[in-house]
Amino acid sequence: MTDTPTQLFIGGAWVDAADGATMPVDDPATGEILCHVADAGAKDAQRAEEAAVRAQEEWARTAPRVRSEILRRAYEIIVERTDELAHLMTAEMGKPLAEARGEVAYAAEFFRWFSEEAVRIEGGNGVLPDGRNRMLLSRRPVGPCLLITPWNFPLAMGTRKIGPAIAAGCTMILKPAPQTPLSSLALAAILKEAGLPDGVLNVVTTSRAGEVCEPLLRGGRIRKLSFTGSTNVGRLLLAQSAEAVVRTSMELGGNAPFIVFEDADLDKAVDGAMVAKMRNMGEACTAANRFFVHSSVVEEFGRRLAERMGALVVGPGTRDGVDVGPLIDRTGRGKVEELVADAVERGARVLVGGRTPEGPGCFYPPTVLTDVAPDSRLMDTEIFGPVAAILTFDDEVEVIRRANDTPWGLVGYVFTEGLDRALRVSERLEVGMVGLNTGLVSNPAAPFGGVKQSGLGREGGRVGIEEFLEYQYLAVPVR
Ligand code: NAP
Repeated sequence: MTDTPTQLFIGGAWVDAADGATMPVDDPATGEILCHVADAGAKDAQRAEEAAVRAQEEWARTAPRVRSEILRRAYEIIVERTDELAHLMTAEMGKPLAEARGEVAYAAEFFRWFSEEAVRIEGGNGVLPDGRNRMLLSRRPVGPCLLITPWNFPLAMGTRKIGPAIAAGCTMILKPAPQTPLSSLALAAILKEAGLPDGVLNVVTTSRAGEVCEPLLRGGRIRKLSFTGSTNVGRLLLAQSAEAVVRTSMELGGNAPFIVFEDADLDKAVDGAMVAKMRNMGEACTAANRFFVHSSVVEEFGRRLAERMGALVVGPGTRDGVDVGPLIDRTGRGKVEELVADAVERGARVLVGGRTPEGPGCFYPPTVLTDVAPDSRLMDTEIFGPVAAILTFDDEVEVIRRANDTPWGLVGYVFTEGLDRALRVSERLEVGMVGLNTGLVSNPAAPFGGVKQSGLGREGGRVGIEEFLEYQYLAVPVR
């Protein structure tokens, strides 16, 4: 913690905000201020843009093997410093240390994966159908990028964007969420140590997101926006990107259905539910938001899930044996409280949890609600907390219709032992990813992303680097 940088990272140097502004970083487990970091304004954004634009040409010409090896070294440093990074993340974000260690491994893996992809960027060639011209296809980096990340996975959301951008030969400005700037600053220090040239990555921490990002998007020099966050902010940034026709990748919100059929293995379904709901205290875009459980098994599923949820230990993420840390802040917790109160008012029964504990910190207990009315607000709002809302269904066609009845389409979970049904239902769900008898889909080697208002483009997998590459087609006459 004491060695973690707290200044902006621009052109390879650590600098204060031009107007000297700083902002506090809070510990959500205590509400106390951990430290202050630089709070960038428009002038700093301009400096970062200049650094990224200046570094672009040379970086694009740098050998893919060199880019690959920088990522590989950074991967190794991250793994070596797992404990230190996990403590930092738990301090600023709240997740239990075991989960923070898991995120460090997940985050590092994006660097390893894209270090391997950096040297596999392929073009193509051939004679065109009319026989008169040859086609030579080459790939080139899209150019300077703006990367905007949320607070819920402070390290992995950064590496998932920085990894492919470095591999493709793009320079970038990273704007992390103001609640969790320290993990991004630590990451910048690691990349510098791994040999990343000055100006390739610039980090601006700020509480003035609009002032920093809008001029960058409208200015015409930033060629790519990669955003992870809520659908509302994504929509606004898409509009701002339209003016200078900036390419965009959007990883937005979710409203995941979790469907348990009558032929499901309930052990698997309850295990899957614990992961899909409780990973990151429910503060994940992939979190199961609506549990649809067949009427013949709903009682047993609800009872078993409530038992498991009730046994989880809530407390500060640094304490041994804690399973559930605090939510990110009072606003986040307030939203969860309101959604639960609304569901209860509309007839939901609380099987476990549901009461905010006294005392400091933003804690909320694991909660299971059953008999949730379909018009409850949490049916079309991301809960972003440890609350499982159970509804009942009787028929496959009906449950697919209800699962798809939402503007979002990030991920869905299906639990059944029937192969035909598993494939049929998965294919009919309007989502970018399906967890079939599993509650965890995220993996750096798989394309992560959603359909409908959950986003545009994919991160990770073989396609992740495509988001940062352009094609150039050369027409050459056949003589
Ligand atoms: P958010 O409010 O949309 O914020 C995300 C990021 O955007 C933050 O850095 C935020 O900074 C910034 N931002 C907000 N307004 C901006 C503006 N006008 N110009 C530029 N930047 C702006 O989302 P969040 O509450 O941090 O994160 C939770 C959301 O992220 C959920 O909806 C979740 O589903 C989604 N998410 C999606 C994925 C995915 O891969 N699909 C992964 C993780 C999270 P400020 O806070 O300073 O405004």
